[in-house]
Amino acid sequence: MTLRFTNTLTGKKEDFVPLDPEGRKVTWYACGPTVYGPIHIGNARTFVVTDTIRRWVEHLGYDLRFVQNITDVDDKIIRRAAEEGIAPEEVAEKYAKMFLAHIELLGVRPASAHPRCTQVIPEMIDFIGKLIEKGHAYASPDGSVWFSVRSFDGYGKLSRKNLDDMREGERVDPEQQKLKRDAMDFSLWKAAKPGEPSWDAPWGQGRPGWHLECSCMSMRFLESETIDIHSGGVDLVFPHHENEIAQSEALTGKPFARYWLHQAMLNIRGDKMSKSLGNFLYIDKLLERFDALTLRHFLVSAHYRTELDFTDDNLELARKSSRRYADAWHEAVAVLGAEPDAGAWKTSPACAELEERFAESMNDDFNTARALAVLFDVVTRLNTARANAEKGAGDTVELAALASLLDFFRNLLGVSRSLEAAQTTGMEDLSGRLLDLLIEVRNDARKLKQFALSDRIRDRLAENGIVLEDRADGTRWKRES
Ligand SMILES: [Zn+2]
Repeated sequence: MTLRFTNTLTGKKEDFVPLDPEGRKVTWYACGPTVYGPIHIGNARTFVVTDTIRRWVEHLGYDLRFVQNITDVDDKIIRRAAEEGIAPEEVAEKYAKMFLAHIELLGVRPASAHPRCTQVIPEMIDFIGKLIEKGHAYASPDGSVWFSVRSFDGYGKLSRKNLDDMREGERVDPEQQKLKRDAMDFSLWKAAKPGEPSWDAPWGQGRPGWHLECSCMSMRFLESETIDIHSGGVDLVFPHHENEIAQSEALTGKPFARYWLHQAMLNIRGDKMSKSLGNFLYIDKLLERFDALTLRHFLVSAHYRTELDFTDDNLELARKSSRRYADAWHEAVAVLGAEPDAGAWKTSPACAELEERFAESMNDDFNTARALAVLFDVVTRLNTARANAEKGAGDTVELAALASLLDFFRNLLGVSRSLEAAQTTGMEDLSGRLLDLLIEVRNDARKLKQFALSDRIRDRLAENGIVLEDRADGTRWKRES
């Protein structure tokens, strides 16, 4: 069975053949976050799906080196620093830590390396110098450096756009326009502005452009000018990945990445997430409302190339579905009296057939939706085997085999038992909602002048460390400090 997946570069599903002549080592670069705030559910989808695909690639026996950057210098970080009244470095540090903590809560394993933009400044300056020498880049009088898109023949090959069409739709900043030779030329080095982080360079003080860091880090941390896989959200195809290809291939004359993998977007109740709609759902808030297993299940429930809609119904469905397999396991283990051996499924022909179907789904463009359907077949069979065993009619060997297979599939998709521990966050959410309910009842009692009842609610809560505060805009509760 060969792994096949869609390569954005060709627009086709292709057999995966690594660059390594022995076919074992695989290099993969994934674009990471710009750390200026908590990640939102759309980012989370990309990171969770990437982790799931990574689990599968590793399961196939490839020796994978997976690098994901953290952008720690950017306009957005500088803006956030001004808003929070702290230094840009502090903003980056705070949200980089938060990013790593949040992906861990979602069961995403850390990359082989998470390099930061500020770690590769000398390499980036060197990269730009070589592009200027080769005639692919030029400095403008203000000390900025631009990549000349006309100098690179393949510009547009990933996004399948042609330069003249692009110019039509481009919104041009008139200030920048004066500095550039072509409207589509993009920035490799941004001249320093007062109060912004900057570094010395032959063209003047400044900071690197965003596209450049990914090319530099990919080459440095994967130790190769050509890598196997480069991935990111589909919104990065143009201009980010197109620009990465242009600057990298202009420099080395070699293909930059052989397979380009892009995840589709996530919508919120049918709408795109956007500033104007104000419908960004941040992961820190979502983890207060939903447990990590529910969120991860939801994020892998659709194929990575189809859009996914965040709705209350879909989340409720994810909660119920993930409870189904969590419960099936615990009930089976209760009957078995102990957890089954991890490889118990390997001796069962029925399990081998299910495993093959799961593998076919994942090898066919990482179809997690179909793989989940196989997982639920296991759940159905497991529940039947468990019910039979309870009646004393069943075969506990097959029960143990099915339970171990369920656990195996869950780990491959990352909807593992370890995420169940985080379901306490769901309980905290429930406590919060129950408190709100009690406050509502107390307020009704006060309106009806049943003060004995309203005081009793307040006093009993106080005994349990919850203090109520009556304010003009309503009653709030807080934990006694
Ligand atoms: Zn990138």
